[in-house]
Amino acid sequence: MTINIGEIGEKDRNSVLHPFTQLKDFATGKLGDPTIVETGKGIRIQDANGNQLIDGFAGLYCVNVGYGRTEVAEAISRQAYRLAYYHSYAAHTTDELAILSDRLVKMAPNKMSKIFYGMSGSDANETQAKLVWYYNNLRGKPNKKKIISRERGYHGCSVISGSMTGMSFYHDHMDLPLPRILHTGVPHFYWGAQPGETEQEFSKRRAAELDDLIQREGPDTVGAFIGEPVLGTGGITPPPAGYWEAIQPVLRKHDVLLIADEVITGFGRTGSMFGSQHYGIEPDLITIAKGLTSAYFPLSAAMVGEKVYEVLEAGADRVGAFSHGYTYSGHPIGAAAANAVLDIVEREDLAGNAREVGAFFQAQLKEKFSQLPIVGEVRGVGLMGAIEFVADRNNRKRFDPMLKVGARISKAARDRGLIARAMPHGDILGFAPPLVVTKAEVEEIVAIAESAVRVVMDELT
Ligand code: PLP
Repeated sequence: MTINIGEIGEKDRNSVLHPFTQLKDFATGKLGDPTIVETGKGIRIQDANGNQLIDGFAGLYCVNVGYGRTEVAEAISRQAYRLAYYHSYAAHTTDELAILSDRLVKMAPNKMSKIFYGMSGSDANETQAKLVWYYNNLRGKPNKKKIISRERGYHGCSVISGSMTGMSFYHDHMDLPLPRILHTGVPHFYWGAQPGETEQEFSKRRAAELDDLIQREGPDTVGAFIGEPVLGTGGITPPPAGYWEAIQPVLRKHDVLLIADEVITGFGRTGSMFGSQHYGIEPDLITIAKGLTSAYFPLSAAMVGEKVYEVLEAGADRVGAFSHGYTYSGHPIGAAAANAVLDIVEREDLAGNAREVGAFFQAQLKEKFSQLPIVGEVRGVGLMGAIEFVADRNNRKRFDPMLKVGARISKAARDRGLIARAMPHGDILGFAPPLVVTKAEVEEIVAIAESAVRVVMDELT
């Protein structure tokens, strides 16, 4: 298909409300023309002008099997021809859905029992909150409803999930967060540690703060804690040593459920199939999306652990049907896409690739960037990594936000053919390439990023 670039651009500018876009700058053309993305293969996408870009962020950390996997497209097409849709209400199912669910229950950590499907990470976290409330109502604990998340955590931007997200710009002017959602300190060692504090000590301090918060609020009012195994949008920050080991006993002590938000870390990104396995986390509920279908179809899920599910089933005679669901819960095309993607993830051992190529990637990032005068920290795990830029390395001082250092470096990378994302909360360049990335491609990514960093560094000094 030949695209009329001018016409498509105009239609878009006139009619699409783009997420996370400065609306006036876009409307007036200050942001330039929209990028019309046309095709993708492996770790690369191509725009309508024929420019190729390496997608160092796998879309939004989601195209884990890479672009252009025809076997996934064929699975989607086969299912669409056979049966494009049927719902999963009132005990209806499809073969793809039943097979997928059986697979997920078996591969998930910590005794998951049932899978509830949605279309996005946000709606799956919305479901998790309702499950926590439902569970505690059924247990006769109607006050145990507050949910604690972390500052700088990201859990989506619907009403409850947006409240869980711990970044003020997702709340401002949107009347969030809801009163039942509380936030505790972020496990970000670089910015949060006190002078001389070790990672273990810092982790213990964060756990003590959580304990204090639960005590202050009253343990009978706190239903759950939600966290990403590795902080994602809040800065791609692996937990400091001892963090999850210190947090979990506090939750157990107060009978507070643990929701692991594995929307990014699920299906291999850390080098383990799930981030929970990587960090010894034993969640009661697990949220998955993105990697589940590698974004070939919108599909998410709330995985419900045995402990919670048993209460739901035991209460059913009293409360009747589980009254929650979406038209598209368990969509058969999504299930077919997920099964085809999981076949690839398993056959090509993409968790293993994230471990092996990821170790090379982390070493390359450290080697090329950690000694640069504007770099404060290089961090990551598996195939997710970040470089944090600072004005003063010795005193951990940020750049003046007006200098837009992170955004400039991201733009310089883009001008050189690499998408790497400027993350919020400082000047951070983030990477999360498709899990099929090779060592040679990692070298390419790192070389472009290095030239982008050096050009902006020269402008700054
Ligand atoms: N949870 C985490 C950890 C995420 O990173 C995201 C999205 O980036 C979400 C939830 C929300 O997912 P979605 O954008 O599909 O609603």
